[in-house]
Amino acid sequence: MKSILDNHVELKQVVDNVAEVAGYLWQKGWAERNGGNITVNVTEHIDDEVRALPAISPVYPIGTTLPHLKGCYFYCKGTNMRMRDLARWPMDNGSVIRILDDCASYVIIADKPVKPTSELPSHLAVHNYLLAKGSPYRASVHTHPIELVALTHNKRFMEKDVATRLLWSMIPETKAFCPRGVGMVPYMLPSSVELADATIRAIDDDYDVVMWEKHGVFAVDVDVMAAFDQIDVLNKSALIYIAAKNMGFEPDGMTDAQMQEISDVFHLPK
Ligand SMILES: [Zn+2]
Repeated sequence: MKSILDNHVELKQVVDNVAEVAGYLWQKGWAERNGGNITVNVTEHIDDEVRALPAISPVYPIGTTLPHLKGCYFYCKGTNMRMRDLARWPMDNGSVIRILDDCASYVIIADKPVKPTSELPSHLAVHNYLLAKGSPYRASVHTHPIELVALTHNKRFMEKDVATRLLWSMIPETKAFCPRGVGMVPYMLPSSVELADATIRAIDDDYDVVMWEKHGVFAVDVDVMAAFDQIDVLNKSALIYIAAKNMGFEPDGMTDAQMQEISDVFHLPK
């Protein structure tokens, strides 16, 4: 079967990267069943040939109006699809959608009429926010990293920047590669408008990674690999913390002065 990826090299690279990350999420045990979502704004890789492609689905309402998404295209994981399947067959377990001119509805254009994730309205709301802000970020990843989710089961770590400080202090690279730390969002119903709004507020509070209490992590970055990397370095820190606790002691962590030095040398925002 002919695929939209066959003669669109840049678009294929983006989707290949999504598939690679989906495989990592499964291998890490962060993507049980159909858990997790990935959406990528691929508009910059869309040419006139793709713009002329007919819809292969009915017109679906987004459920909200997102004015900055007019004419945008997204690759989205399909609803009820598994990351481990998407890793092998990204265009059977996800699709490319076109946002229509009313900014309130969309159609699927390729390759198959795979309906996007039920989390689509919240992911698109985040992309709308990022474009409004002039952000270069094009990818959002939601997943269930075991050790980071475990941290959110303790109220102490849900206080502002307590988890950030702990995770940054476990190994220097975590602050260097997740330089804004983690925003914390208290438990809210999955897929709810409230959760989407709270996530956008946390990103607006200058975080790239947001932890959802007793649920998971939502990260944004320039591309899917970078978003994954931020989650990965944070979870690595959580594993180091747990390893020390398992050895029977509370880890010292880097000092404030050592962490400030990292910020100065690497010109970090915090
Ligand atoms: Zn989830």
